[in-house]
Amino acid sequence: MTKRRDPIETPLTSTIVYPSSLFSLEKDEVYPYERFAYNILHVAVEALNRKSLPEKIVVDFTRLLPASSPWSLNASVRCELDGAAKPLAFHFSTPELVPAMMYLFVAVVAHEFLDETQFENFCRDPLTFRARIQLFVDGASAAVRAYRQSGFGSAVRAGYMHLSLTIQHLYTFADDYNLLAKLIANHEVAHAYIEQFTYASVLGECDVRAFEFLADMVGTAWFFHEMIANTPNTEEYRKFRGMRSYAETIYSNSLATLRAQQVLLVFMAIAGAQRSGGTVSLAGGKSHPGGLQRYFLQHIQLYTLIESNFSSVISGDQLRNLQDDWDSRMDTLFRSGLIQPEDLQSLRDDLNCDALNKCADLIEELKIGDVKQVGPTLREICKRFEEGLNSND
Ligand SMILES: [Zn+2]
Repeated sequence: MTKRRDPIETPLTSTIVYPSSLFSLEKDEVYPYERFAYNILHVAVEALNRKSLPEKIVVDFTRLLPASSPWSLNASVRCELDGAAKPLAFHFSTPELVPAMMYLFVAVVAHEFLDETQFENFCRDPLTFRARIQLFVDGASAAVRAYRQSGFGSAVRAGYMHLSLTIQHLYTFADDYNLLAKLIANHEVAHAYIEQFTYASVLGECDVRAFEFLADMVGTAWFFHEMIANTPNTEEYRKFRGMRSYAETIYSNSLATLRAQQVLLVFMAIAGAQRSGGTVSLAGGKSHPGGLQRYFLQHIQLYTLIESNFSSVISGDQLRNLQDDWDSRMDTLFRSGLIQPEDLQSLRDDLNCDALNKCADLIEELKIGDVKQVGPTLREICKRFEEGLNSND
């Protein structure tokens, strides 16, 4: 819940391409698609408008991305250029089953991870968390089997049925799904906003990683503004949330936002398992830095934004609680095996260090005001990292 912002009145051309059998499905099965598209448009209209980039936006759930299947857990953005290499339109895509798979993931894994009581069980016995992930994988596999046999609509239905999800559950899972969709939308739209597509006709490996970090940073800054900084300081809002003070609403929104980033980390590890043939993995590959490093940077950025903007609003105890909550959730992810020792090793990849320095250069070069305070921190992290590496030689 955020402050109302001024409407943007510009001629917007947007197209959403849904799989044709989507509309034969039930409301809770359609919701993940509508909400995903809404979040992309919600973020993109304002961001592209601010940069005077064309607001011609296509959200396409039917495109098969290169080297992926209809159930590969990923999303992408591509820019359509005119003959003079100027942007004409932005195309945001996911493989067909991704929004449905995200909803299954939220219902079986994320909602429980975010729930206080259920999380205590995971904390006591991290294997129960692994069991939830396995349950999600079973539901997703049921969907894939049905897809191979009878196509898209049957696949979505089979996934929901395997996990006994009905329309009544929609109200329980809608907000958590929306948070995850919002995080992904912020990142994808940030790729368009930082004008990665017009920067150079061919990008090297280090540049691609630098843009990936930059999209993460910009997306995180937007997420902070929407979720925390824009929290209304009004009686009406507090009443709506059932809270007594501005501090309480800021604390609660900070907690939800920090946890949402952890949920995305879990989702990325499962997506890694799809690529690696079953083992959960946060390895990045050639074009993407390791998932754990990306996550840590975004977490540090978000926590720093909360601390520097709101330490006079929320109490020292509340700030410590945010840290403690983070610690216990990370600890559970480690103990459950979701984060592997190899992921920690990947933090020592010097290509990522070059990419971080390059990311700091890009912030200055492209004048990305949204994250201008982040550049010096990135350089400092790299300096310490290099010193650490040298002292270990
Ligand atoms: Zn990206």
